[in-house]
Amino acid sequence: MTAPRRQPQRLPLKVRYFRTADQIPGIPRDAAENLDLVSQKYAFRANDYYLDLIDWNDPDDPIRRLVIPDAAELEDWGMLDASDEAANTVVQGVQHKYGDTALVLTAATCASYCRYCFRKRLFMRHNEEVARDLSPAFAYVAHHREITDILLTGGDPLVLSTDRLSPIVKRFAAMPHVGTIRIGSKIPAFNPQRIVDDEDLHDLIEETVAAGTAVYLMAHFDHPRELTEMAQNAIWAVQDAGAHVVNQCPLIRGVNDDDMVLTELFETATALGMPQYYLFQGRPTAGNAPFEVPLVESFEIFDRARRRCSGLSRRVRFAMSHASGKIEVVGVNEQHIFLRYHRAKDPDLESRVIVCKRDDEAYWFDDLEAVG
Ligand code: SF4
Repeated sequence: MTAPRRQPQRLPLKVRYFRTADQIPGIPRDAAENLDLVSQKYAFRANDYYLDLIDWNDPDDPIRRLVIPDAAELEDWGMLDASDEAANTVVQGVQHKYGDTALVLTAATCASYCRYCFRKRLFMRHNEEVARDLSPAFAYVAHHREITDILLTGGDPLVLSTDRLSPIVKRFAAMPHVGTIRIGSKIPAFNPQRIVDDEDLHDLIEETVAAGTAVYLMAHFDHPRELTEMAQNAIWAVQDAGAHVVNQCPLIRGVNDDDMVLTELFETATALGMPQYYLFQGRPTAGNAPFEVPLVESFEIFDRARRRCSGLSRRVRFAMSHASGKIEVVGVNEQHIFLRYHRAKDPDLESRVIVCKRDDEAYWFDDLEAVG
């Protein structure tokens, strides 16, 4: 791993978006056929900046795997809303699962679509989960003074122009009980130039922080190859404006199911001042069969990676975002899997430790048998 350094910014560059295979220069025929087939069911979108990171000569290239459809996505597997997010939806566009935190779904698109996305239902027709009019969301949060933390999510909030994002951030930041605004985004990986060039975004962060509300960018890098010079510039741009940055991502078959890759990701993220916050077990989401890894195997990959890391990088937790809460996998031995509620929807479950029978075929909490 090379130590990252600040680089001069490049000249502004506008990315071009592609939705069909025939628009993508150099795409191999098999990839084009899969794209045409799968995109009839699950949306495809990518841009030239990100596609340029792919080595088309390598059929197993992790960046290719992340955005180019795999025919096995069409296997009958999983559910569209695997964590039952619908049950936490309190008004259109707002999920309120844990007392202090509200998720506000502000955008129904992303700069590109990750093939393993657990919210791919948002990109399908007839989805009503994203707020078109945020008035009910503002009213709900204003009324619920226990909410101290707003997570802007989607889709990707940074696909919105800063002109559209700014009043949203300002309105929540003006509520005295809101101390933190988080922006969950994969734009730093998919289109970092959008952040580097946007001085209005830097000003918005600076003004929000100066007025007393912390801003966190929850970045989503899955593989060290996404941490290009431009991506690093994007991270530094928001840090310079006063935002904190952390990284989180799922463990994905063929992308980062390799402890050496994860070690490099965690250590590089720490060196960039963007420590890894969570590594997630993939949710059993419809369309995601080719990307999922059994729970024990995932934990063992994670644990090997973490043991190689410095103390700062070891703060990462490996967790399942289950309908009942965020369940951390804390250990596995020959007989058992040890779990602990890091966050729980039911306050009585907070911090509860659960011991389950080891099952190397299980993918998710619901597949496990609790024994203590
Ligand atoms: S950026 Fe996030 S919401 Fe968008 S496709 Fe990827 S995982 Fe899904």
